[in-house]
Amino acid sequence: MNKLLIWQQEIGRKLVGHRAFRCHALLLKGKKGIGKFTFARFLAKSLLCMRPDADNAACDKCASCGWFEQQTHPNFTQVLPEALSAVLNDHTVHADASAREDADDQDARGKTKKKPGQQIGIDQIRRLNDLVYLSGHQDGYKIVLIYPAEAMNAAAANALLKKLEEPPEKTLFILVSHQPRRLPATVRSRCQQINMPMPDADTAVRWLKQQASDSGAAQNMPALLAMAGYAPLSALSFQENIKQHQQFIEQINAAQRFDPLALADSLQNQDLTMTIDWLQKWCYDLASCQATGKVRYHPHLEVHIDKICQQINQQACLAFIHFLNLRQPLSRHPVNGRLFLEEILINYGRLVTSACTPDMV
Ligand SMILES: [Zn+2]
Repeated sequence: MNKLLIWQQEIGRKLVGHRAFRCHALLLKGKKGIGKFTFARFLAKSLLCMRPDADNAACDKCASCGWFEQQTHPNFTQVLPEALSAVLNDHTVHADASAREDADDQDARGKTKKKPGQQIGIDQIRRLNDLVYLSGHQDGYKIVLIYPAEAMNAAAANALLKKLEEPPEKTLFILVSHQPRRLPATVRSRCQQINMPMPDADTAVRWLKQQASDSGAAQNMPALLAMAGYAPLSALSFQENIKQHQQFIEQINAAQRFDPLALADSLQNQDLTMTIDWLQKWCYDLASCQATGKVRYHPHLEVHIDKICQQINQQACLAFIHFLNLRQPLSRHPVNGRLFLEEILINYGRLVTSACTPDMV
């Protein structure tokens, strides 16, 4: 179990230990950035291992473990959106051009190119038939890992539901989800649902410090963890953008000197969804500070946040948060990213420079 994150040891022992599940499908659910995907792969590898150790964890020595690491295991496949498989450099995925969304992009010569799909399409689920309906290699367990499960579009979820309704022999589906409510209830109800644990702040900070000492990086870990929403793996990736985040906070913290168009200009090459996420966390703290006097995501900036709070209208702040929540899902494929961001920042500017309710309908 020592290959697992410290906060996953207990759930790892439970799941890997008895190797018997009530269902043919597991739904591992929990906050993004707590290590669910790594855990799901650990579980799959352990279940496929030919000579598991005394804890029933993978031996890392047998042929099965070797195939698993080389992404060539005949009884295992993982299904990811095309965009994510490109990031993870995954070769076992059935990348599906039909699942691409219509978000076009213009390259330097003005030609239109397709962005990699953010969804899991029906063809990716249909292509599992060969694996799940034929007998597996050496008659062994067959495992399908779907991540994140909420990326399945409606047709894909429906196709999976048919498989879950008539489960193939010796097959285990492992669905991993950050937002299980986005899955159809019919799919959820056919899975054994498992709440994946999240570490407390002290454990997470200790773990982050360990990672930092391994890499030699120095950072204010409690602040980093808070800004990343208390998810330790998210905090690690947050580090890569820490300078941009600092500049962003300096700009939105400027209140009366806030310049939405200049900020939109400086952020135009940055991932839009990440920018909206930063602004959501900042505004959450403004509202929280007004209502309770406490901040969640920027404890090291509490004095600045308190100062802004005294100048803004509480109702307008809550209305702006609602507006951001509506815009957030659209940030993955806006028609015009620059205009999309300008509109949001202009509304933020109205919020912090006057007590008037912004026009956000
Ligand atoms: Zn093994």
